[in-house]
Amino acid sequence: MQDKVSPTPLPGSAKAHCDLATRRALFASELRSEEGMAPHEHPPHDHQDHSDVPNDLALRVKALESLLVEKGLVDPAAIDAVVEFYEHRVGPRNGARVVARAWTDQAYKVRLLADATAAIAEMGYSGGQGEHMVVIENTPKIHNLVVCTLCSCYPWPVLGLPPTWYKSTAYRSRAVIDPRGVMAEIGHVPGDDVEVRVWDSTAEIRYLVLPERPPGTEHLTEDQLADIVTRDSMIGIARVVAP
Ligand code: FE
Repeated sequence: MQDKVSPTPLPGSAKAHCDLATRRALFASELRSEEGMAPHEHPPHDHQDHSDVPNDLALRVKALESLLVEKGLVDPAAIDAVVEFYEHRVGPRNGARVVARAWTDQAYKVRLLADATAAIAEMGYSGGQGEHMVVIENTPKIHNLVVCTLCSCYPWPVLGLPPTWYKSTAYRSRAVIDPRGVMAEIGHVPGDDVEVRVWDSTAEIRYLVLPERPPGTEHLTEDQLADIVTRDSMIGIARVVAP
């Protein structure tokens, strides 16, 4: 795997800003890789970097969509609704609410660490790619980082769709080889006395990091706390900072 390590900086904020049609095409590629096959079961392709969605793929999806719409087989509004659901209604805000509750409700935190799937379901979040959740807690002495070294396994019900960089070869390889270096690029460098643990997601288990509650947030409400919890902090490449 080492020969695949790339010096390319991690695009921590490399979100794709594109029109809805392109997002639909990209989303279709997500479905192609995440559904219709067991996670970690790869389709017969050349194993190129997941982050490099080729333009011709987007064009093919657009062409296919146009054809299906033209034939009356697909309602564009229905496709938009699916994209909207995963982009806005299912996403890191769900995970942030779980974290904020764990920070403010000790009994909930105990349940969350003991049986994350059930505790997360208490909040109303469950479903595909989140059937077997494990929450790992950051402490002053332990920092946890989540990766899927093989593909892009990710806890959809609490974090939504994985960011592009999470699926990149650079992250998947470097997170294991040099987790501190990866975190340093994002801006968080755990102290030398902090043990860094890297968790490799699998088809069965999806991880969510419970970040440390930052000092100076004692006066914040649960809702206000949820607002400061970032997606990256729940993957473990960043920490939560007080507002
Ligand atoms: Fe995977």
